[in-house]
Amino acid sequence: MAIRLTFWGVRGSIPTPGPKTVTYGGNTSCLELRFGAEDRLVIVDAGSGIRELAGKLLANDLKKGPIRTKIFLSHTHWDHIMGYPFFTPIFIPKTELDVYGPVSFEDDPLEKVVGDQLRYRYFPVRQEELAATIRYTALKESEQDLGGGLRLRTKYLNHPILVLGYRFEFEGKVLCTAYDHEPYQNVFEMEPDDPRYDAEAVKEGADAAAGENEKVMQFFRGADLLVHDSQYTNQEYRHGKPPKKGWGHSTFEWAINAAHKARVKHLVLFHHDPDRSDAELEGLVNGYRASIAGKSRMQVSIAQEGRTFEV
Ligand SMILES: [Zn+2]
Ligand SMILES: [Zn+2]
Repeated sequence: MAIRLTFWGVRGSIPTPGPKTVTYGGNTSCLELRFGAEDRLVIVDAGSGIRELAGKLLANDLKKGPIRTKIFLSHTHWDHIMGYPFFTPIFIPKTELDVYGPVSFEDDPLEKVVGDQLRYRYFPVRQEELAATIRYTALKESEQDLGGGLRLRTKYLNHPILVLGYRFEFEGKVLCTAYDHEPYQNVFEMEPDDPRYDAEAVKEGADAAAGENEKVMQFFRGADLLVHDSQYTNQEYRHGKPPKKGWGHSTFEWAINAAHKARVKHLVLFHHDPDRSDAELEGLVNGYRASIAGKSRMQVSIAQEGRTFEV
């Protein structure tokens, strides 16, 4: 085993506890990654699921010594950071935490965007009172060596604010994240009977969007595990009331097609819509599996809280 991924939060937008989501889970985005025999820990996103992960770290990891880890934030939308004040290691002396993430609003550093959740108006403890040593670093598109044979590449995705996808490479295996992300659209798309119709602009727009989408596919090309946004069905995206096009998320259909084209080995569908019940999710994904059977060898799974994937 080179990389082990455990989901602690799989839901998009807002936590959705309740009888309709007990199987796949109602917490928002949090991924626990473990690398190699040493079980090196890296966390992706601090949604509401990180609270449960913190409980596990206190019960297991803390016995071996202080918690020293990195948290990579896909972006700072609330569903991806709301669990941060409940990540108990921040209250424990000798914890060392490095928090990385993209910053869209340059006047406010990452420390303020994330750490301002710890203010008396929102929470009973202030950031200044935390016992842990916490360092915040704004990330851009980059490639870096995280040491011990672990390499990381980051890529901007398409969302209303800056979002980074993460590509971890370790011992020849690749785990990639691509959320929150919507395929790039042709900004000049219009119908030929529109008086503003300009064939050249339409073609240029289409080429530009296709080029950007190709870059994202190159980013996750060949991944052993890809965690991809799949909040909507194609029907909801194009014909929902209202249509969800432009809201910053992908469809199941897009995720499956793009991952298959990029020769991904195992696609994990993620960022479930808050309105999607377990039964609906399972029904939909069984349908997609049936429709690609015999055409693609790619494995397709549903991200599920508590479930572990190994490569
Ligand atoms: Zn989200
Ligand atoms: Zn978002």
